[in-house]
Amino acid sequence: MTSATFTFADLNASDAAQRLHIDGKPVKLAVVGHPVEHSLSPAMHQPAIDALGLDYAYARVDLAPDDFAAGIQRMATLGMLGCNVTIPHKQAAFKVANEHDPISSELQVANTLVFDNGEILAYSTDGPGFVNAITEQFSIPLASMKVLILGAGGGAGTCIARQCAHEGVEQLILANRTIEKLDPLYQLLAPHLDSEHHLSGPGDRLLTCPMDSPELIELANQADLIVNATAIGLKRTDPSPLPHQALSPHHLVYDAIYRDTRLLKDARSHGASARDGRSMLLHQGALAFDIWLDQAPDIELMRDALNAAING
Ligand code: NAP
Repeated sequence: MTSATFTFADLNASDAAQRLHIDGKPVKLAVVGHPVEHSLSPAMHQPAIDALGLDYAYARVDLAPDDFAAGIQRMATLGMLGCNVTIPHKQAAFKVANEHDPISSELQVANTLVFDNGEILAYSTDGPGFVNAITEQFSIPLASMKVLILGAGGGAGTCIARQCAHEGVEQLILANRTIEKLDPLYQLLAPHLDSEHHLSGPGDRLLTCPMDSPELIELANQADLIVNATAIGLKRTDPSPLPHQALSPHHLVYDAIYRDTRLLKDARSHGASARDGRSMLLHQGALAFDIWLDQAPDIELMRDALNAAING
């Protein structure tokens, strides 16, 4: 199957309806980003769409920030069903929508849009996708764990932190390079972790820490699950975001990055369980698929296609 990226100019061309086809199928779904060429979403969604016997194509659409709102409106007008939204548009996706699911409302971001008779509906599936990924990968309920999130102030880290708080984790430790970014998140999450049944109070159940603090090693040691939501590891030559002395055999380590990283290698060499972020990508995509098409995809088909795209 041909992989295609469409532009704002394609959406606005007089023959846009004819252009928006891949291998003879009309484009009904897409991932929108800038850049978007690297996105793995078409590779995992198209086989799941085909498996349902639907004559729809899933495309990439590259929209610069200034063109985002008009491009989305145009996609809706052209009869598309919806889209995934990736960097740098997740906040703009919240703003372009008329209605929002509770997570999207709370965090003011969206990664999934639905075009519904002139209305645009926004959803955020990153957090629930993370929970499904952790449950699947480690077979331990999130609520029973003490969780350290590295990069909690970023887009992915905020979604993960919010979901951990709503799941009622035993303890949540938020770490970020720019510590001030954690202030609004702390205020948002503190009420969810204010239970007298756990530890000794909200101050102990919810902690913040700068990434460069020596205290991070001690906090990592007391965590059960360590999540990397920083961008450190995206480049193959990147170091680990956490000193390796912080890792122990009792740790479960999850890196939101889709492939093996220094952190995951270090974790394994210290006897910890380590998983990369492709399962989160898979599950947030599966939830979006269900929202658009009102039926769950064949998740194992999507997983195989995603693995083939990453490994290939
Ligand atoms: P983002 O909003 O730009 O956030 C980036 C985060 O990384 C921030 O916390 C930032 O800290 C931190 N960071 C960047 N460089 C750093 C450095 N040198 N030292 C310390 N911290 C640093 O990006 P995002 O969308 O959240 O993406 C973050 C990561 O998650 C990426 O690797 C992305 O691939 C991955 N991701 C995975 C999935 C999935 O489904 N598996 C979904 C979304 C994202 P500051 O706040 O101090 O800048």
